[in-house]
Amino acid sequence: MAKGIYFDHAATTPLDAEVLQKMLPYFTEEFGNADSPHAIGRKGMNAVDEARDRIAELIGAKPNEVYFTSGGTESDNWAVFGGAYAQKAVGRTHIITTMIEHHAVKAAVEKLEKEGFSVTWLPVNDRGMVEVNALKAALTDKTGLVAVMAANNETGVLQPIREMAALAKTNGSLFFTDAVQAAPYMPLNVKELGVDMLSFSGHKFYGPKGCGVLYIRGGVKIDKHIVGGEQERGLRGGTLNVPAIVGLAAAYDKNVATMSEANEKICRLRDLFLQEISKLEGVKINGDIQNGLPSVLNVRFQGVENTAFLFKMDLQGVCLAAGSACASASVKPSHVLIAMGLTEAEAKECVRFSFGKNNTEEEILLGAKLTKETVETLRNK
Ligand SMILES: *Cc1c(COP(=O)(O)O)cnc(C)c1O
Repeated sequence: MAKGIYFDHAATTPLDAEVLQKMLPYFTEEFGNADSPHAIGRKGMNAVDEARDRIAELIGAKPNEVYFTSGGTESDNWAVFGGAYAQKAVGRTHIITTMIEHHAVKAAVEKLEKEGFSVTWLPVNDRGMVEVNALKAALTDKTGLVAVMAANNETGVLQPIREMAALAKTNGSLFFTDAVQAAPYMPLNVKELGVDMLSFSGHKFYGPKGCGVLYIRGGVKIDKHIVGGEQERGLRGGTLNVPAIVGLAAAYDKNVATMSEANEKICRLRDLFLQEISKLEGVKINGDIQNGLPSVLNVRFQGVENTAFLFKMDLQGVCLAAGSACASASVKPSHVLIAMGLTEAEAKECVRFSFGKNNTEEEILLGAKLTKETVETLRNK
């Protein structure tokens, strides 16, 4: 039996050992409240300032454009609600988003739709990509917010963010991108992308869980998110999570420095895995490997129900997902795959493999062997 093969890096990644070492002092000796105006507090704030400066430098922003949150979900909620309400105040009550957003954006927009905002849900093509012309056609003088993710978490497909951000800007609309899944694999430069807001999360690149970033371009007005203290320039109250902020910045720094090497390795492992499982009949890839993250492979095994497959793989020590971890408790088929044109029955035959830099060739070969055996067992039942 395989001992703990982990092919679910799109759900989360293990904390890097060096990152943990950098975090540890801030749980103990350096425990200060970063807002306390005394020596112990100042040490906390110095660490936060350093983290903010480093992240700003790495994404091409100014430090006062970087806000720390409790993770990708909070950053996404803040961008969507904060952006939509601020735009409503100037008479723009139309939101444009896509049919493939993460639940952190999707559910927020659905809530705004119930509150009376009008919403256009852009479709995707059969390879899972949003088309720029669809956005062009949907923009009106009432469009306040456009939210399009940078890379999809279920298929890994990259979206044309730069082109879309430029269209939104011309239209006077705010443009937000959920870059949580893109950040581990793509250098992000907010100036080059031309976005107004961008989110990412520490635990997707070997940093701590429960800590994220929202970039808000200077001059962009969005509503306060958490009322209370004056933290984060008065927009997001709450005592700063100093150890996690230090960890997020250290992890992002290391991630950017090692990205091209890691991407190459992950790409090679993914291609090897695909080559092995392609020996099976009835294997279909969802998405677009040429225009996708190196890490994600969304596969349909015809005639095999994914819940049974995942259960059997888990028993053999292989950790996988059908799609978003946030939705895995539900039996609903993936909204992303349905948007790409799969039937509900087809979507229930799909599995997401997501590889990481610590996976080995041995794990890939063993994981592929167990995949092939399990698919065959389930088909012969
Ligand atoms: C993981 C993920 C999120 C949520 O981030 P958390 O930090 O887990 O809340 C949001 N969007 C995408 C695309 C993700 O992959």
